[in-house]
Amino acid sequence: MAEPTPRLAPTAPSSQLLAAGQNDYRIDLLGLGRDALIAEMARLSLPRFRADQLWHWIYHRGVTDFNAMTTLAKPLRMALAETHQISRLAVSRRQESDDGTIKWLFRLADGNEIETVFIPEDDRGTLCISSQVGCTLNCHFCHTGTQRLVRNLTAGEIVGQLMAVFDDLNDWPSGRDDRYVTSIVMMGMGEPLYNYDNVRTALKIIMDEAGIALSRRRITLSTTGILPQMQACGDELAVNLAVSLHAVTDELRDILLPINRKYPIADVLQACREYPRATNARRITFEYVMLKDVNDSPADAEALVKLIAGIPAKVNLIPFNPWPGSVYETSSDAAIEAFARVVMRAGYASPVRKPRGRDILAACGQLKSASERLRRSQRQDQAETA
Ligand code: SF4
Repeated sequence: MAEPTPRLAPTAPSSQLLAAGQNDYRIDLLGLGRDALIAEMARLSLPRFRADQLWHWIYHRGVTDFNAMTTLAKPLRMALAETHQISRLAVSRRQESDDGTIKWLFRLADGNEIETVFIPEDDRGTLCISSQVGCTLNCHFCHTGTQRLVRNLTAGEIVGQLMAVFDDLNDWPSGRDDRYVTSIVMMGMGEPLYNYDNVRTALKIIMDEAGIALSRRRITLSTTGILPQMQACGDELAVNLAVSLHAVTDELRDILLPINRKYPIADVLQACREYPRATNARRITFEYVMLKDVNDSPADAEALVKLIAGIPAKVNLIPFNPWPGSVYETSSDAAIEAFARVVMRAGYASPVRKPRGRDILAACGQLKSASERLRRSQRQDQAETA
């Protein structure tokens, strides 16, 4: 029987409306998980294989124009183009560092802005993705923590960061063998486990083998240790886990990461011990920001290795990236080296993260704040000249 040309009514979930622009009421397919896309096809009386075809065009080929989807019948392409869209995040600013780091400030449909950073290295390229606009957690050393939380990102806005970067770098799976983006870290603005449902949908889209097909081994989710969702993250996504530790006593961690009062160190480490699939081949990463005279002594390092004993782990040492107004200083190279030696002697890899993109405000949240300052001063200028 011939497939009917659908008469498409725009009654999709409201969260999928308006993704590309406040006045565009077409249904946005970006960010619909597989089941949701199949359900949308069923709503249009279209068979399941249409969802498979769309999935391929959207997530493997990076096509946004229904008319270019040549495996769909022309009347169907035209009908979909009238009532549906595949949106892209708008680039508000793009900065490229001398060291190759690229930072995008994306403007969302409601005017909010988020940051995404690409960090190229010799053997890989990592994209750091945001999960929220701002952050509620107010980690004391983090610039994003100074911005109030505006809202969670939708699944489309999370996967949309990767897709917009694919467009920019011409890096779609169908187009190149030597890809630029080889791994992603959910380590940008926000606490991903406070937006777990949307992060889960987005990461499942990113891992789906018929589309972007990024292996779970190349995806790392970074959390401050939100216990209720840590187990679910391991069970449902089985991605690599990075935990922001940053201190070896609750007293200090309460200050650096106030969420510690709710989820203290011992409980977070117990959840790490129980994290599904943590093995020597898939170690948990502990993030440790090096703050001069705050948490960087050899005694701190000794305490750290005692705390994480028995956990398949590595420790990422992160020289603090200062931002205007921050009260901390970066540890000296000698202090970082001494700290790393203690950790290494205990049998844990302890790479020191190279500061990247310092010339382009690459500390998390800085570009967004700079953009807001600029817009505020432009508004002031306009008010003064009016
Ligand atoms: S470090 Fe992460 S969780 Fe803490 S305030 Fe910054 S963005 Fe939020």
